[in-house]
Amino acid sequence: MRIGIDFDNTIAGYDALFATLAEERGLFDRAPTGKRELRDALRQRPEGELIWRRLQAEAYGGRMAGALLLDGVDRFIQLCRQGGVAVSIVSHKTRHANFASDGTDLRRAATDWMEQHGFFDAMGLHMNPDDVHFEDTRSAKVARIAELKCAWFIDDLEEVFAEPGFPKTAQAVLYDPHADSEAAPDLLRCRHWDEIGEHVFGPRH
Ligand SMILES: [Mg+2]
Repeated sequence: MRIGIDFDNTIAGYDALFATLAEERGLFDRAPTGKRELRDALRQRPEGELIWRRLQAEAYGGRMAGALLLDGVDRFIQLCRQGGVAVSIVSHKTRHANFASDGTDLRRAATDWMEQHGFFDAMGLHMNPDDVHFEDTRSAKVARIAELKCAWFIDDLEEVFAEPGFPKTAQAVLYDPHADSEAAPDLLRCRHWDEIGEHVFGPRH
């Protein structure tokens, strides 16, 4: 069995980093703490969409080191390893940001961050770099999920599961820590990684 996992906002958490970047720019005295709240607040301003995209380019690029490993991801990947379940990371991530790029290679930034968090260490999560896939488009991402024959796919963005080509054989899990998604109610959604572990491995693994 193979489980596929999205990267941004599913493995790497940016809520605190986005708030910091927004405060550094003087956009807020105290920025909203959730990524979605911050995005929505910015989008109400003139040029808000552009400001939001610039913040994203920084968070996913030069400031990536400030992203946090989301609580429980490491335990989940270790459970997979112990259970003989293969793990692939499949991310829709272009090499460079489309807006206000400072030239940072976003894929390199993500890979460096994974290295810093022990993803490829024998004493850490012991993943193989070949099990990390960066794709240019959402449709290439779902094609990869299908090609890998993932039995489960975990993502924070419900649009991925609705993308044409998302394999019917993959069980979708929406990682929704703030429980603020507007996804269809029949979609399996979890607020915490430990809850995802219970769905995949049973309640008393
Ligand atoms: Mg994501």
